[in-house]
Amino acid sequence: PVRAFGAVGGTPPFVVRGEGAVLHDADGRQYVDLVQSWGALLFGHARPEIVEAAREAAGRGTSFGAPTEAEVELAERLVAMVPSVERVRLVSSGTEAAMGAIRLARGVTGRPTVVKFDGCYHGHSDALLARSGSGMATFGIPGTPGVTAGAAADTIVLPWGDAATVEELFHSGGHPIACVILEPVPANIGVLPPPEGFLAALREITEDAGTLLVFDEVITGFRLTRGGAQERFGVRPDLTVLGKVMGGGFPCAAFGGRADVMDQLAPDGPIYQAGTLSGNPVAVAAGLAALELVDRLDPYEALDRTAASLTAALADALSGAGIPHAMNRVGSLFSVFFAEPPVPDADAARAADHRAYARFFHAMLERGVYLPPSGFEAWFLSTAHGQDEVERVIEAGREAAKEVAATEGS
Ligand code: PLP
Repeated sequence: PVRAFGAVGGTPPFVVRGEGAVLHDADGRQYVDLVQSWGALLFGHARPEIVEAAREAAGRGTSFGAPTEAEVELAERLVAMVPSVERVRLVSSGTEAAMGAIRLARGVTGRPTVVKFDGCYHGHSDALLARSGSGMATFGIPGTPGVTAGAAADTIVLPWGDAATVEELFHSGGHPIACVILEPVPANIGVLPPPEGFLAALREITEDAGTLLVFDEVITGFRLTRGGAQERFGVRPDLTVLGKVMGGGFPCAAFGGRADVMDQLAPDGPIYQAGTLSGNPVAVAAGLAALELVDRLDPYEALDRTAASLTAALADALSGAGIPHAMNRVGSLFSVFFAEPPVPDADAARAADHRAYARFFHAMLERGVYLPPSGFEAWFLSTAHGQDEVERVIEAGREAAKEVAATEGS
C-alpha cells in the first residue's frame, strides 16, 4: 500500500536495478534511494559479497526442508550478536517472527492478553494491526476490515512513551497479560525516540508481573548497533523479533530470546511453529554475508555521522524556508515531520502536515531523491551513501524546501 504512493499521490517509478545508494527506474532515471528496501539493505543495493553468497548458495539448491550447517551458523551469529538472545528460530518475514513470538509468550505464560503501543507496527497479523503504524498509519485506519473482533479482543493498545499508563493497566489487575510488545524505537509512524527511562520502566513492570517483554527489532536490529536497540539502551527483553538487515535483502527473519522460553517451542516443547521455507539456504547465505559485513565493517559510527550531518543540513534548509518541522533521530534512524516540534508520540505524528510532506516528497523525487512515500516512515541510509550522495540529497532538500514554502504561501 505504501509503495503504491497512496499517501503522496502520483505514480511510482518502476525499478529495474539498484546499485549501492542508487535506484534506476524503467524510464532511465536515477534516484538516491533513502528507502533501501524499507531498511533491509544496510550495505546498499547489490552489495557484491551478499549477491555472490546468494548466487553460490542457489547453485547448490534453493530449498531442502532439511537442516543445513549454514542455518546453524546464522543462528549462532544471531545469538552472539544480540545480547538477550540465547536461542533463536528462523522464519521468513518479520510478520511471521512477531506472530511466533506472541504465540510463544501466550503459550508459556498461559495468558491471552497482548499489550502494544499506538503507532508501533509488528507486521500484518490480525491481532497486531490495532492502531499500528506503517501502511496502517498512512491510511489512517485503526484496524482493518477482515480482522474479527475476536482476533483483536485480546490486544490492548496504550499510548507510546507513558510508563504511568502501563503501570496503571498492570495494577488494575483486570487483564492476564502474556506480553508487552514494542518497537524500542518506533520507526513505522515516523521515528519516535523512546523517552528517557521508558524502556527500563517497561522491563521492571513486566518482570514484576511475570509478563514477557518483547522487543520488535525488525528495524532497529543490526541498524542502531550490532546488538540493536537493546544494546544501545541497555535493556534486556525476554524475546526479540528480528528481520530486514539480517536477511541481506532476502526473506529471512527470526525470533529468539531466553533459553527457558524458547525451549517451549516444538519440537522440544509443545508450542507449535513451522515454515516450509524457514532457514531457506539462499536467504541464509545472504544473511550470513550481511552479518559478516556488520562485523568486518562496524558501520555504526559512520552511519550515525552521516545521519547527523544530513539531518542538520536538511533542518537548516527547512528553517531557512520558514517551514516548521521536527527532525526526529536516534542514531542513523530518522524521519522528518512537518509540524511544530516536539513530535513525541503517535497522535503528534498523525497531526503533522502530511500534505506538506507529500509536496516535499515529490519535489525531492523530481530532483532525483527517492524518499519514503509517506510521512509515517523512517528514512534509511546505507554504507553506500557517501559524501556525493549526501550532497545530492542536501542540495535537492534546499530547493524542495523553497518550493514547498512557495506553494504554502500561494
Ligand atoms: N516489525 C517491524 C518493526 C517492522 O518494521 C516490520 C516491517 O516493516 C515488521 C515487523 C513486519 O516485517 P515484514 O514486512 O518482513 O513482514
